[in-house]
Amino acid sequence: MGHLLPCRPQENLQPGCCDEAPALTLVQRALLELTLSLETLQAVKGHMLEAMAKGLSRQMHAQATMRMLPTYICSTPDGTEKGDFLVVELRRRHVRTLWVTLLGDGNQSPQLRDRLFDMPEDVTQGKGEELFDFIAQCLCQFLDGVCPGDPQQRLPLGFVFPFSCRQTRLDQGELIAWSKGFRCSEVEGQDVVQLLQAAINKQERYRVDVIALMNNTVGTMMSCSMEEMPCEVGLVIDVGTNSCFMAEGRLVEMAEETSRRMCVNTEWGSFGDDGALSDILTPYDQCVDQESAKPGEKRFEKLIGGLYLGEIVRHVLAKLATEGELFGGSGVPILGTKDTLKTQQVLEIIDDEAGLAAARGTLQALGLAPSEQDCCHVQQVCRAVVTRAAGLCAAGLAAILSHMCQSRELEQLKANVGVDGAVYRGHARFGEILQRVTKLLAPECVATLVPSADGGGRGAAVVMAVALRLAAQRREVDQLLAPLRLGPTDLQRVQALMRREMELGLGQETNAQSSVRMLPTYVCGTPDGTERGDFLALDLGGTNFRVLVVHVAQDGIRMASEIYAIPLAVMQGTGEALFDHIIDCIMDFQQKQGLTGQVLPLGFTFSFPCQQLGLDKAVLLSWTKGFSASGCVGKDVVQMLREAAQRKQHFGLDVVAVVNDTVGTMMSCGYDDPSCEIGLIVGTGTNACYMEEMQNVGTAEGEQGRMCINMEWGAFGDNGCLDDIFTDFDQLVDEKTINPGKQRFEKLISGMYLGEIVRHILLALVEKHILFRGKPSPKLQTRDIFQTKFLSTIEIDGLALRQVRGVLRDLELDASFEDSVLVREVCQAVSLRAAQLCAAGLAAVVEKMRESRGLAQLAVTVGVDGTLYKMHPRFSQHLQRTLRDLAPNCTVTFLQSEDGSGKGAALVAAVHCRVAQAQGPP
Ligand code: ADP
Ligand code: MG
Repeated sequence: MGHLLPCRPQENLQPGCCDEAPALTLVQRALLELTLSLETLQAVKGHMLEAMAKGLSRQMHAQATMRMLPTYICSTPDGTEKGDFLVVELRRRHVRTLWVTLLGDGNQSPQLRDRLFDMPEDVTQGKGEELFDFIAQCLCQFLDGVCPGDPQQRLPLGFVFPFSCRQTRLDQGELIAWSKGFRCSEVEGQDVVQLLQAAINKQERYRVDVIALMNNTVGTMMSCSMEEMPCEVGLVIDVGTNSCFMAEGRLVEMAEETSRRMCVNTEWGSFGDDGALSDILTPYDQCVDQESAKPGEKRFEKLIGGLYLGEIVRHVLAKLATEGELFGGSGVPILGTKDTLKTQQVLEIIDDEAGLAAARGTLQALGLAPSEQDCCHVQQVCRAVVTRAAGLCAAGLAAILSHMCQSRELEQLKANVGVDGAVYRGHARFGEILQRVTKLLAPECVATLVPSADGGGRGAAVVMAVALRLAAQRREVDQLLAPLRLGPTDLQRVQALMRREMELGLGQETNAQSSVRMLPTYVCGTPDGTERGDFLALDLGGTNFRVLVVHVAQDGIRMASEIYAIPLAVMQGTGEALFDHIIDCIMDFQQKQGLTGQVLPLGFTFSFPCQQLGLDKAVLLSWTKGFSASGCVGKDVVQMLREAAQRKQHFGLDVVAVVNDTVGTMMSCGYDDPSCEIGLIVGTGTNACYMEEMQNVGTAEGEQGRMCINMEWGAFGDNGCLDDIFTDFDQLVDEKTINPGKQRFEKLISGMYLGEIVRHILLALVEKHILFRGKPSPKLQTRDIFQTKFLSTIEIDGLALRQVRGVLRDLELDASFEDSVLVREVCQAVSLRAAQLCAAGLAAVVEKMRESRGLAQLAVTVGVDGTLYKMHPRFSQHLQRTLRDLAPNCTVTFLQSEDGSGKGAALVAAVHCRVAQAQGPP
């Protein structure tokens, strides 16, 4: 007995009301048949979970008993909803019309005017068109009375339609099948929104737009949501029963939506139609089912719904009367008549105080003469039937809650459950059992039952208000992001501008007019694979300073390296101290590697803009990336390195080449792929280099062969040529940098800036009350709080929104679900633009190469480096796709560089040595 439900009916008897006489045995047996143990209810919950999973899955959907219909309601209210809304609610015998005014006060006190129209029986049985005409007429009559002011005003209408519909949008849904006694022709399979809209238009009276179709269950859920207290489950226990809940969008496979949550209408009334409930069905339930309109269907509903509870009791009593257990054997004929006992009466009889009197009254009204004990037994039966219904309802609710808890990967779920319906409201005991048993069956969930004030109607207004709020927000977001969205013509223009700047930059006379410096590197050849030897390399200007030894042999390249810190004081001290420090590091490295005394050719990767006068002669034009050592700008950095070596008495240094990191990248990829003739960096900054025909290079001597040109394309646009591409957000970012007005192209593309652009857009969205509910977020005011690596995380394909939310929470940004979706959209817009602009730049490069080589088609490889390019989940894909569109005659392959700036510098030295040896001593 220990496993029996604590609320089994016997317990609830008044002490002394009934004696434990042997004559009770048959009654007792009937009661036991109706009593479900907690174990049984656990099993029901388990079956329900299976049925839910089936209904949600695309593959299993066809065989599912619970349809789990998508509702296209993807958001619960946040309390800011306001406006006037019309609602039409179709009921079993009525049409109800409502005018709801939401005040934006958290939906606490909506103003509501409504009217109930009786619906003649034949309207529910005739042609579909007549039903919808009738509804439209009711609506017009109602509006005549309400006098909505301006007759031209467009009124949004929500249609509460409590039948199973296959929805494809919020305002579109085909009726799957009539139920509840309706059987109008030509409606099944049709979009009921269209039918209603057409009927309203036909009246030619009011301008009404049907913008939302929903079930009453959904309305119940939505009407119970208040600010700070979203309601994510709806439960209706009325003549029938049904439920809905906010499911994870990714699990709702029948809907295209993937990113957010969507309310799913479970249609749980049909649970058990495949036999899942056969263990608990009693002979009385079988009788009820046989006498119903559709035997074998809606088995769960027939155990719970108000249409059936009275009937179940009637069958139990009839059986007991037949066996002489009740009414002295009389009353059998009257109890044999369908619907003689109403569920409402059953709910009155279960009451502790007035229940026995109600039993007596009800039985006497049927012409019976019940004894004291008869009344007592009838009460016990009524309690058993209601307790079972509430217990089953709890099993269903527990299944929903556990599903939500599990799919959200929570340890504990707190949820508000909106409840409505005549059975639920009929007696407090129903809700008490529901609450108690749910807790036992889903102990990991804390459910608060919230009785719905005006389920369908008010909820429908809220649904519409949310839909309209989201639509308005969408327009604002689109408007805000529009300047960042570049079309093909924008990108072609950027490409053409880059091409023009390249030409200007290469010209001896025009060089000064261009924002793209096009610096000659004196690197005239890429590796051919015959290079051999040991080389030293330095890498200065990336995230770390490194010294390397590179061994180039027939079987490949081997390297060893050390990272050395450059203290801030050295970075920003004197040039002499900086280069002294570098020599110290080299000496330390040589000692560690056992290279002391050897003179190896050295390649120097120096990733700052330089005017190069020879392969080993580079005049620093300006410091960037936090360096500011004095006395360096305008000087040859190789010379400064040699002078430092002399000061330090280090005579084993043979600097043969100084290169930029783009060139290093190109060279290191060129060793693996000889067609690599472009280098690209997308990391902290962005830059590119490529092999140009010498005859096109007006700024370096010679006409033969090719030379690598360091474009310094980060500065593209510094002369104003990109001004119309820049958005307000870009201006804000630029103003706060240490070099305002400079490196404008770079500031649209590279890792140092993308996060900042996103942050400024988010601030604008907060200001427009679209994000974080308009609540100011002090943390978001902090510069650089939003790092570019967060874009990579947030944009990972299929990342659960919960995780996006986690990233934002780590930044102390309290993001809702919708906020997370929006933040992701902003990140996507910013990174997409960056990739597209980068592609436009590259398109100019490859097209210029193709043309100057007189080729119809060019196949070329780009060596790429930079953490943004390598780590961002979409950047490279977008870059490559856009490049294909912009330069269709070029086949461009991308090769990621492994340690370009280290290996590359050594390879420049190696190529130099190979060529020098081939040419012999000068
Ligand atoms: P550098 O360009 O200084 O040689 P990197 O190529 O490593 O160095 O680029 C560093 C930059 O990459 C950082 O400034 C940061 O903005 C960006 N970054 C770091 N991690 C990521 C990531 N996971 N996704 C995208 N960008 C990143
Ligand atoms: Mg780098």
